[in-house]
Amino acid sequence: MMKFGGTCTSSGDNILRIVDVVQRRLERNDKIVLVISAMAGVTDSLIDLINDALSGNLSKVDEVLSSIKEKHVQACARAIKDEELRRDIIQDIEGLLYELHFMLRVISYLKEASMRTRDRILAFGEKMATKIVTGALMSGGIKAEYLTGGQAGIITDENFGQANPIMMLCEEMLKKNLIPLLEQGIVPVVTGFIGQTVKGVETTLGRGGSDYSATIIGAALEFDEVWVWKDVEGIMTADPKIVPNARPIPKMSYDETVELAYFGAKVLHPLALKPLIEKRIPLRVKNFFNPDSPGTIVHYEAPNDKVVKAVTMIPRVAIITISGAELYETPLIISKVFKSLYDVGANAIMVSQSSSQTNISIVVSGEKLNSILERLKETLPRNCDVSWESDVCVIAVVGSGMRGRPGVAAKVFSTVAKEGVNVRMIAQGASELNISLVVRQEDAIKAVRALHEAFVG
Ligand code: ADP
Ligand code: ASP
Ligand code: MG
Repeated sequence: MMKFGGTCTSSGDNILRIVDVVQRRLERNDKIVLVISAMAGVTDSLIDLINDALSGNLSKVDEVLSSIKEKHVQACARAIKDEELRRDIIQDIEGLLYELHFMLRVISYLKEASMRTRDRILAFGEKMATKIVTGALMSGGIKAEYLTGGQAGIITDENFGQANPIMMLCEEMLKKNLIPLLEQGIVPVVTGFIGQTVKGVETTLGRGGSDYSATIIGAALEFDEVWVWKDVEGIMTADPKIVPNARPIPKMSYDETVELAYFGAKVLHPLALKPLIEKRIPLRVKNFFNPDSPGTIVHYEAPNDKVVKAVTMIPRVAIITISGAELYETPLIISKVFKSLYDVGANAIMVSQSSSQTNISIVVSGEKLNSILERLKETLPRNCDVSWESDVCVIAVVGSGMRGRPGVAAKVFSTVAKEGVNVRMIAQGASELNISLVVRQEDAIKAVRALHEAFVG
């Protein structure tokens, strides 16, 4: 279909850099769809606003809203040179903030915010940033059109907070809505993170979901590449905020990157690669502050020269252990445990079963702990004991080079043992792409740094 093409995600913070990148790609006759995420910290502020509204703290709500407004108005002043356009975009942002304020007041009166309402609120960050980027592009003489994810054609199920795209519908709608714009030389500027149900209700794709929006669009339009723009040199050997000497990884395979994102590398949404894998579309992770550097390219193959390519961490998880079941009951108990996770929309990050088969431990996100415990209490028979431990972290070493190579696990454990770190639970994926372990929260950074030093340092 389209000879050249790309989808970029980027934070609304780097607006003039976005204009520059788009300009350069258009000069090469590339077709581009831009996907924009919220400005830094705005989604977190929106979550705080919901909590402030729920606790009736309306003066705090007003204070935070005016600082959000200030941030966006300042961004308009920096990025939109054309005065009339700037005035229009600021007016649009004021309109969005008015709507947001109204919704927060309703939350504070009702003292209730369902997942559906939360999604409506969280969507404002992307909408405001996308408005500014659209204005900045137009002000730079580029034909651009603002669309929400839903207007573009990202159609999802009703799993508010972590909605799943319905790919067949997305493909049809995205093609129908975006291709005519591209054919007219218009750059569609789409809010990341946001979708909508078949009935037109707004949803979000989970934290970090703008990456996912970009790959859904890139796959639907069968683009040549999808680029995600970050504040780092690409996918790195560890989170540089934890390991200062982490280095960029030039090439990663889809499999390795899926593991890395799943095991906590916040650089990419865990599901973002899914739409690209089937169509074998490469993903590039690029640095906004250094656009000419190649960043990381993720494709179906990558050299497995290194045993371990990266060390990752999922903070704030919990181990739940179910014991006491008779041996013959274990399969039934396990099925009830997983059904309980499903009922509360939780995921088992790691699973381990004791050899006597009467003990099963699962690692879950700390946020979901209470709802899972409640559900287990309702579903499990009385002879089962449920215990848990919070304040623990999952750490994983990831790389296809460990496949079939003996001694990797031994090195992992001796490395953390040397640091005096106690390992609470271990697991290795059958694909042999990762080894993961659970350690206490207070030991986590020490363990990540030691593993990085031992394997990639
Ligand atoms: P945010 O969602 O916080 O705006 P991005 O989506 O732009 O961040 O992702 C970049 C961030 O991901 C970096 O600032 C970095 O701290 C974090 N990160 C975590 N693990 C890695 C990793 N292995 N490689 C690169 N960045 C990582
Ligand atoms: N703004 C959303 C978040 O902070 C989505 C994203 O940044 O990709 O999670
Ligand atoms: Mg992100």
